[in-house]
Amino acid sequence: MQSINPLNGEVIQNYTNHTFEEVSYKINAADTAFQHWKTTNFESRSNLLIKLAEVLRKRKQELAYLMANEMGKPLQQGTAEIEKCASCCQYYAKNGPDFLKDQLIQTEAQKTYVSFQPIGVVLAIMPWNFPFWQVFRFLCPALLAGNTAVLKHASNVPGCALAIEEIVREAGYPKDVFYTLLIDAKEVEKVIELPQISAVTLTGSTEAGKKVAAKAGGLIKKTVLELGGSDAYLILKDADLKQAAEICVTSRLINSGQSCIAAKRFIVVKEVADEFIRHFKSFMESKKVGDPLNEGINIGPLARLDLRDQLHQQVEKAISNGAKCILGGQIPALEGAFYPPTILTEISADNPAYYEEFFGPVAQIYVANDESEAIKIANSTSFGLGGAVFSNDLKRAESIAANDLQAGSCFVNAFVKSDPRLPFGGIKESGYGRELGLFGIHEFVNIKTVYIA
Ligand code: NDP
Repeated sequence: MQSINPLNGEVIQNYTNHTFEEVSYKINAADTAFQHWKTTNFESRSNLLIKLAEVLRKRKQELAYLMANEMGKPLQQGTAEIEKCASCCQYYAKNGPDFLKDQLIQTEAQKTYVSFQPIGVVLAIMPWNFPFWQVFRFLCPALLAGNTAVLKHASNVPGCALAIEEIVREAGYPKDVFYTLLIDAKEVEKVIELPQISAVTLTGSTEAGKKVAAKAGGLIKKTVLELGGSDAYLILKDADLKQAAEICVTSRLINSGQSCIAAKRFIVVKEVADEFIRHFKSFMESKKVGDPLNEGINIGPLARLDLRDQLHQQVEKAISNGAKCILGGQIPALEGAFYPPTILTEISADNPAYYEEFFGPVAQIYVANDESEAIKIANSTSFGLGGAVFSNDLKRAESIAANDLQAGSCFVNAFVKSDPRLPFGGIKESGYGRELGLFGIHEFVNIKTVYIA
């Protein structure tokens, strides 16, 4: 395994993959550790989460540099990501014990209740785009609930993967409660087969999700899948257009456009289309592309050269199928995996781009005849992760968000974001199950009924 700086193609470090023997040893150890870990009390597990937050904050700068070098994230965004991980630790330290309290239920019996029991070693398969946040939002509730965990991180961020193991140790967790496994994707099936693995969570592409879910399903092991998205943002005629455009651009360019919940399609009703597009284009043009270590940079290189090339091919294919490119669309004359803010319009329903996720700074703008057509376009995708509505008629916007958009999270006059307090996840090919909040901590527990006659 190698980590390669997408800014200049330099190899940062070579890593030796773990052998299957080493992997089995670590998973066995995590399973043995589970027997004791599950008996520890919430107070001690909460205290460890608070320590974890302290270690993350102490190492924030260093970890932001690591992300910038391994996958191109601008430094400021990296420190914000570590801060978010720390707040997730604190959130579950404070609220987790309440979420897992026995729930009494009245029946004809003397006593009936639901008890939330940990289930064992959970395998987490994680992507490179938010190398810390994706892991911590799974790990905090899993550890607080009394599970142990092993991580198979994306192959291009082994430095981040090992740093997470180190941070967990530094916070004072028992050694075997969490391990990073340096393995290729093709090794994962064998890992899922190990009897000590009780469940699997995956964040990544729909393709990887299907394979992992099929394998785990065949063994009746639970999965949570957080997959891709092609979130649609609706701009209605009474929206504050300048503000909406600014929020839309911010969302499209989150993490240099490489976020599952970045807004990817903007559907504007025809009466206000020209004005919205003008504002949108001007905000897109104002963003600075460059070295993620330099201050004031909004967009770093994409995480890997092959991903940049794939994105460019999608753009070219969209154009050859009739789309119009009104901004960007050219690989810049810069070393590194850079791609400029790009806008595509006039994408018809027979253009492949209409159905694809663009994982980079490429926006698709659609013009709808009216609100009902806008909703129809928004839902004509296999994905269902997030969506947003912009309008000054809050009642109408809320109704569209709550009832009409087919997605796991719908926001009004704001961009979709994950928040430790709110459940997060998708429907359709964006996956199933929820992370974060009360619902997230209930995914990897045995929701056990206890009945005393
Ligand atoms: P992948 O889905 O390929 O990678 C995500 C994780 O899954 C990595 O750890 C990867 O390991 C692992 N993985 C991949 N294939 C398998 C498999 N067959 N069995 C088990 N594990 C597997 O994403 P990419 O990094 O290739 O990015 C491609 C696309 O994925 C993006 O364009 C985007 O659409 C989507 N994506 C979505 C994300 C999200 O947040 N929902 C995040 C990242 C990507 P390895 O790195 O070793 O291949």
